[in-house]
Amino acid sequence: MGSTAPHVALLASPGMGHLIPMLELGHRLASTFSLRVTVFVVTTDASTAQSQINQEYSTYKKVISIVLLEQLDLSSLMDRPTAMLSQIVLIMRHSLRYLRSAISSMEIRLTALIVDVFGVDAFAVADEFKMLRYVLVTTNAWYLALITYLPFIDLVRPSQPAKQDVPRNKVLEWLDQQPAESVLYVSFGSGGTLSADQLTELAWGLEQSSHRFVWVVRPPTKDSASGSFFRLSKKTDKTPEYLPDGFVTRTQDKGLVVPTWAPQTEVLAHLSVGGFLSHCGWNSILESILNGVPMIAWPLYAEQKMNATMLAEQLGVTVKPEKLPSSGIIRRDEIEAMVRRVMEKDGNEGKQMRIRAHDLKRTADEALREGGSSHYMLSQMARECECGLEKLDEVRGG
Ligand code: UDP
Repeated sequence: MGSTAPHVALLASPGMGHLIPMLELGHRLASTFSLRVTVFVVTTDASTAQSQINQEYSTYKKVISIVLLEQLDLSSLMDRPTAMLSQIVLIMRHSLRYLRSAISSMEIRLTALIVDVFGVDAFAVADEFKMLRYVLVTTNAWYLALITYLPFIDLVRPSQPAKQDVPRNKVLEWLDQQPAESVLYVSFGSGGTLSADQLTELAWGLEQSSHRFVWVVRPPTKDSASGSFFRLSKKTDKTPEYLPDGFVTRTQDKGLVVPTWAPQTEVLAHLSVGGFLSHCGWNSILESILNGVPMIAWPLYAEQKMNATMLAEQLGVTVKPEKLPSSGIIRRDEIEAMVRRVMEKDGNEGKQMRIRAHDLKRTADEALREGGSSHYMLSQMARECECGLEKLDEVRGG
């Protein structure tokens, strides 16, 4: 990377599901387009974010800089229970002063600021420093269209980094021992949680299906489906006591229970994985599609129901429950049936889903390749950064 290369700043809002796409984008801009990159991370719990970055993402630091903004005290911002989305918006607003002072203290000039959908207030900071402004939208085009047009409809008016240095994870070692495409990976993203009753039904559904599985489990929560979004429970090697009695022993030949967190991108890329029971976060969907893995949709919050509908009804790579999880408990028999529909390749449905998932993988690969749509848009953005704000019209016009 030459020292004269343009330097872009990325701002990641709280939550690993927001941080990971920013790190991936930063890595791609630096390694493929030779930009210099600094990722500013907004965090409410510096120690958790720091340790996740250190443990799982140390390879990013070889090509980009990562700056943790000063930690915010959540209790001073919220004196009563506040919905998760409002919490993120509040946190982002209060972080702007830290972003401003971090940018002023840098000796180099930053050419552009890239934020996610929660970071658009930071455009004011970009304007102060005469930077180009971009939004990284880490979800589907339906959702982008919805949030773009929402302010104009009557209704809303009143009325891959290199992984070679990382020691092989024991989940991957377990997967190495399993037959090809035989394992269902079960995970609810970086923050998803289930009620105790739902957790019990899911355990029985998996056991009844007799299929192999890797299940990332978190302690049950009472009122929230995003109970771990801001703070993951501590990693532990102990068997979670909230699973049904004897579950781990009875399923030990076929299943692996992983408390809290698994290396998801590597799990989904493993040849033994043949299905993904997912909460339908957009990163999880992309990671599944990039590996041609069909899914069982289990949407929990945010735009995940929309994602699930698109995957099942438009793309045909997913089965989804009769009634969505928000309308009640999904019972063990239905879970067992969904697992069989996705994992059993001799049935026509499973076979067709697999073929469509592989077709999607091919188109995703093409988009990322040089000349593909994703590669083209990023290279265009890199060109704009090289020329700066002054020549923006010229670059876009040309
Ligand atoms: N993730 C992971 N291990 C886990 C759970 C999640 O690596 O045990 C990663 C996953 O690969 C994805 C991100 O966390 O990149 C979750 O993002 P997504 O958009 O799917 O869901 P969110 O957490 O934002 O709801």
